[in-house]
Amino acid sequence: MAEKRQFQAIKGVRDILPPESALWNRVEQTAREVFGTFGFSEIRLPIFEQTELFARSVGQETDIVSKEMYTFVDRSLDVPPDPKIGEFPGYVQAIERLMESGSIPNDETNRGTLKFVKDWVQELFPFGEKTVEEYAEKLLHLSYAINDFQLGDRVSMRPEATASVVRAYIQHGMQTLPGNVKLYYMGPMFRRERPQKGRYRQFYQIGAEALGPSDAPGIDAEVIEMLLAFFERLKLKGAVLHINSIGDKNCRPAYVERLRAELQVVREQLGADSQRRIETNPLRVLDSKLEHEQGIIEKLPRIADHLCAECRAHYDEVKRQLGLRGITYQKNWRLVRGLDYYMRTTFEITAPGLGSQNAVCGGGRYDGLVELLGGPATTKGIGFAIGTDRLVLSLQESGAGEVAGGPARPAGGLDVYLAWFGAAAQPAAVGLARRLRDAGFVVELPAVEMKFGKSLGLADRLKARHAVILGEDELAAGVVAVKRLADGTQQKLAESELFSYLRAAPAASD
Ligand code: AMP
Repeated sequence: MAEKRQFQAIKGVRDILPPESALWNRVEQTAREVFGTFGFSEIRLPIFEQTELFARSVGQETDIVSKEMYTFVDRSLDVPPDPKIGEFPGYVQAIERLMESGSIPNDETNRGTLKFVKDWVQELFPFGEKTVEEYAEKLLHLSYAINDFQLGDRVSMRPEATASVVRAYIQHGMQTLPGNVKLYYMGPMFRRERPQKGRYRQFYQIGAEALGPSDAPGIDAEVIEMLLAFFERLKLKGAVLHINSIGDKNCRPAYVERLRAELQVVREQLGADSQRRIETNPLRVLDSKLEHEQGIIEKLPRIADHLCAECRAHYDEVKRQLGLRGITYQKNWRLVRGLDYYMRTTFEITAPGLGSQNAVCGGGRYDGLVELLGGPATTKGIGFAIGTDRLVLSLQESGAGEVAGGPARPAGGLDVYLAWFGAAAQPAAVGLARRLRDAGFVVELPAVEMKFGKSLGLADRLKARHAVILGEDELAAGVVAVKRLADGTQQKLAESELFSYLRAAPAASD
């Protein structure tokens, strides 16, 4: 027998256990309800996509793509098993055929490897008079080279879902649908980040995207209104909306150059990350949380002073549209998205109780993304992603994390522990349990007969509201005994009376 071994969840990923999972369900259900009233429908997306999709959309230069994605080669099923030395020539021929048929990538890297490997195979095979030993070193090199073949597409676990939504929008020709296409999604995302409170390697997002020909500021404001309506329905307290405009391809490049020039001047005073970002992505320097950089950043040029007339008008109108919806906000000039396709409106919502990871939601307008991914240039987009883990954490910290049950069990938990005694009572108990469950009550039915004291003790420990007792006496009399466990009161009722009695019973928490 194999040695016994215990397993733990991988670092940075976790189990969401009851009763917390009930809160997750409430959060997700509330999102469905609120988003539905704004005309959004759910899209269910794959967990993994071609790596190239994220590289193009999220951006090759970002931390997410450059170091945080879980990427692997999705090996083609047509590739033969790893070859033994004598099988190298046949294997290389098979690889060449698979490249020609497109089963494995016919790209520069594979073509280069193929050429190199073919030359070596020609030189070394057949062995003829020589022995394997005489060729040992060369064969070792050849086996390494054979390992360099990429035997399938490179795929990644999704680090975010906007790219997938846009990919799906284009793939299914949704631009032909009338009006704005409004989609929401929920599910796990994967980023290889350093785990800490509120930051995980498998985390969850609830997001929404509105895609279509219009970039009217009223759309931006309505998307934000929907988000806040959702938070309000959940009774999230202390949420603060931060907004900014980061310009577009007309005005931002000039601002970025100006920023870069100013950053060069203060370069020596910045930390290593910010120094690197001067070249790769100067906007991201504004994100810095480093204490000693704060004073320097405050003096940098602000994009709000460099917006072109169209972007300024768009931003002003977004603010007016928020105002007419009674939405308060804080302008935050340092709120940027470091990716080229983001433009104009960006926003973030922070919530209390989360320490340094206090952003529960990030969003913005990304008018260039659909075109970048091969769709029509006329399609504009705006969306957001809520970090569900952080939202749940904030709800719990602020005491808004309680979960009520359905109509038959306002406080959740177990309504009935159905204690049966005697073989003849079991079929009656099974039938009664089914009828109670059909009526919406939560019922625990012991699978085997237990002694009276033990059975009722378990009902107590399970915190059942009622023990319904069904023994041979009750069976003969056509009644059940009902014991209210909070105060021990007990009475005998016919089945029809039992249902109305349970319905009228106060919830355990009352
Ligand atoms: P982003 O896709 O980076 O704009 O993130 C959107 C939201 O997802 C953030 O505001 C966070 O609430 C959440 N989030 C991002 N990364 C993580 C993570 N590693 N763990 C938990 N939540 C995250």
